[in-house]
Amino acid sequence: MKKTIGLYIHIPFCKSKCYYCDFLSKPNQEDYFQAYVRALEKEMLAYHKLLSDYVVTSIFIGGGTPTILPIELLQKIGIRLGELFFIDPKAEFTIESNPGTLSFEALSGLKKTGVNRLSIGLQAFQNRLLKKLGRAHTLEQFLQNYENALKVGFDNINIDLMFGLPEQETRDWEESLLKVIQLDPPHLSCYSLILEEGTPFFRMWDQGHLLLPTEDDTLQMYRKCIQMLTDAGYEHYEISNFAKPQRKCKHNLRYWNCDEYVGLGVGAHSYFQGIRYHNQENLAQYIKESYCLQKLQKDPQAIHAKEAYEEYMFLGLRLIQGVSKEEFYHRFQRSMEEVYGSVLQKLVKLGLLKEEENNVKLTKRGLEVGNVVFEQFLLE
Ligand code: SF4
Repeated sequence: MKKTIGLYIHIPFCKSKCYYCDFLSKPNQEDYFQAYVRALEKEMLAYHKLLSDYVVTSIFIGGGTPTILPIELLQKIGIRLGELFFIDPKAEFTIESNPGTLSFEALSGLKKTGVNRLSIGLQAFQNRLLKKLGRAHTLEQFLQNYENALKVGFDNINIDLMFGLPEQETRDWEESLLKVIQLDPPHLSCYSLILEEGTPFFRMWDQGHLLLPTEDDTLQMYRKCIQMLTDAGYEHYEISNFAKPQRKCKHNLRYWNCDEYVGLGVGAHSYFQGIRYHNQENLAQYIKESYCLQKLQKDPQAIHAKEAYEEYMFLGLRLIQGVSKEEFYHRFQRSMEEVYGSVLQKLVKLGLLKEEENNVKLTKRGLEVGNVVFEQFLLE
């Protein structure tokens, strides 16, 4: 039987740069569009043989803003994927997008290319907050694009929202949740703002010019989010992710379950055949070298037993169902207690972790301080 794999394809272009963003993406790169897609095709070709024993069960085109590319170029990527790899007919095929880039024609083109899941970055329902974040779109554009997506027949849509934003009040957040619930998308990702060094927001905060909600207010927003979305019939299945039945993101589940994936494109990360690595991060250099995987791949890190235990625990604990002790034993031929006995006991005592039948999972409190819990699983 063939092994399964997920493919991630990075598109490093955006209309403009949001003030909080440290992702590998740049505006005003139209001159690179054609050359970049050609380079992606070369990288796909370089992986062709290596992936011949695999069936692709999920594809995720992320960014950046992939839908900033003309539809012909996105279709080229889709066609080439189909030609070079064995793609499961039931594979989940997601594309990330931002409002203002989803015309009816572009959406129809994506549908024809086999894209069956659309992720839209909305972030907030208030134009004043979108402006504050440096987003390149308005609420009205989002609503228009969302309607287009439904008309074209997309029935698997994710909407991204953010909380803990500058000048965001609890009532703004509740309004965003309420309005988005009324739209009834099958999936929602709700992230709290993180200040990343090197971003305009970080500099403003450093100079005391960024007014953020208090930690307590942000925590209340997270609690509100869980309460409103679960009341509305969403399953809270990962710290920041909520889905209607059968609509969990299969691609992201691969990451949290420590399953293999290959990342194509500038700076893209992979976990393949026991090694984690990432691609060249310089765009021009990536375009030059994409035909040769050896040149392209940087910082290979073999995942030995110690790293594998650690990753399995802190990625798996992101899932609300937690980590299965049986699955842990099946993977590593060692019991979870043998590796983490004292850590588990300590975290259970602190009320951050609970054991349920065969699973170990975060408690409500553990969910709110996830990073503190995850750190405990780092081994000497
Ligand atoms: S649209 Fe997304 S990737 Fe692009 S700058 Fe904004 S946050 Fe970053």
